[in-house]
Amino acid sequence: MAPFGNTLTPRIRMIRKLLRRVFRRDAPSRHEPATIPHSRHGIDPALVSHNARRVCETLQGAGHRAYVVGGAVRDLIAGIEPKDFDIATDATPEQVRALFRRSRIIGRRFQIVHVMMGPETLEVSTFRAAHDENTLKDEHGRVLRDNIWGTMEEDAARRDFTVNALYYDPVTQTVFDYHRGVDDLKKKTMRMIGEPRSRYREDPVRMLRAVRLSAKLGLTLDPAVRAPIKEMSQLIENVPPARLFDEMLKLLFSGHAVECVKRLRAEGLHHGLLPLLDVILEQPLGEKFVMLALANTDERIRADKPTSPGFLFATLLWHEVLANWEERKAAKELPIPALFAAMDEVLDVQAEKLAITRRIAGDIKEIWLLQPRFDKRAGKTPLRLIEQPRFRAAYDFLLLRAQSGEIPLEVADWWTRFQREDHAGREAMLLPDTDKKRRRSRGRGRKAAAEGGAPESGA
Ligand code: ATP
Ligand code: MG
Repeated sequence: MAPFGNTLTPRIRMIRKLLRRVFRRDAPSRHEPATIPHSRHGIDPALVSHNARRVCETLQGAGHRAYVVGGAVRDLIAGIEPKDFDIATDATPEQVRALFRRSRIIGRRFQIVHVMMGPETLEVSTFRAAHDENTLKDEHGRVLRDNIWGTMEEDAARRDFTVNALYYDPVTQTVFDYHRGVDDLKKKTMRMIGEPRSRYREDPVRMLRAVRLSAKLGLTLDPAVRAPIKEMSQLIENVPPARLFDEMLKLLFSGHAVECVKRLRAEGLHHGLLPLLDVILEQPLGEKFVMLALANTDERIRADKPTSPGFLFATLLWHEVLANWEERKAAKELPIPALFAAMDEVLDVQAEKLAITRRIAGDIKEIWLLQPRFDKRAGKTPLRLIEQPRFRAAYDFLLLRAQSGEIPLEVADWWTRFQREDHAGREAMLLPDTDKKRRRSRGRGRKAAAEGGAPESGA
């Protein structure tokens, strides 16, 4: 038997080698994704949006490939309910558009399709190609344009982290995985697709995404993902402010802001972001206040309560305003004009980096401007303040100031009780108005008072 087997084995080996070579020549860099069955990924079909499934079914019914992709698949495998469902397909935007009555093509550079289904809007993108030497980049290597359609494999390769490059077919309940993302997710590691340094150079926002997504999912950064961040963090300065602002909003409203900020600091990434945030975090009172505000926002988000960017930014920047205001008062500027000037200066510095919209800036200022009015617990001021449309936000802000030790808890308690009383009860709570002369002159200053600027008797 032995000689027979010996003569055959080399021949089989040769044929195999030949076959392998032919295959390789046929498909130069093709590799098939791992096909992961439900028993391994464990996605709960109840967490998958019906509408996303319907969109995939319709596209597949028309002969296309169509899968749920990206963050939604990652979250589903991690057992988290996704915020939104994105779909990737080999159909062109026109082909997608033709299949759904309520849909529209958006974007000029790279077109995607918004498919409206029930209350949901699903983003359907055509597979995109990876970058090559023709890709347009800025002088730091940041990719300025990537708008070429490609294969599903190329689409996977241009995504950032392995856990973000998974494709889920809701019909067969299969996950397609080109980069071992499911393993990484199960091992709780965040690994980059490709070489982390060049991926950060292409898009520095990926450093922030690494921190945010690892905090959200409780993942550990792979050492290769983590190591370059410290030395490359200054590349964030080249990112357009509007994009940075969007990413900051995602981070601060992720429901994991406390964890994100801790991790940002650990990675040395907080410096370029909110200019002065590093300074604020290094002042003991400021740090306590900011962390309390973030914890409060996290709690509200996890409880599905409304939150506002104006409120959160007002807290993040408050200690900057306080420091600036104190300086001005020490230089003998009048308190209220000094507060206005301090607010404008702090917001201007931020505006250079973060595209805080005018509306948000307006909300921030309203909250700040109402703060000095909480000091006045005599006369008619408290009764008017409580009727202000922004009273609730300003009061929540006051509570954080008290909890962080900036002002006496007694002041916040007084306002808590004051709100609960009826009109008579409130009148009874008002502190004696000692300075009659100033009260008499208030008639003339009423307009200024309504704007938060009248000098009234202090409590
Ligand atoms: P979130 O939970 O915040 O929605 P996400 O990963 O879904 O996280 P999106 O901004 O919705 O974030 O992006 C969707 C997908 O697009 C990602 O999962 C990833 O595959 C890809 N992607 C997003 N941003 C980048 C980037 N900067 N570089 C490469 N791929 C990206
Ligand atoms: Mg997403």
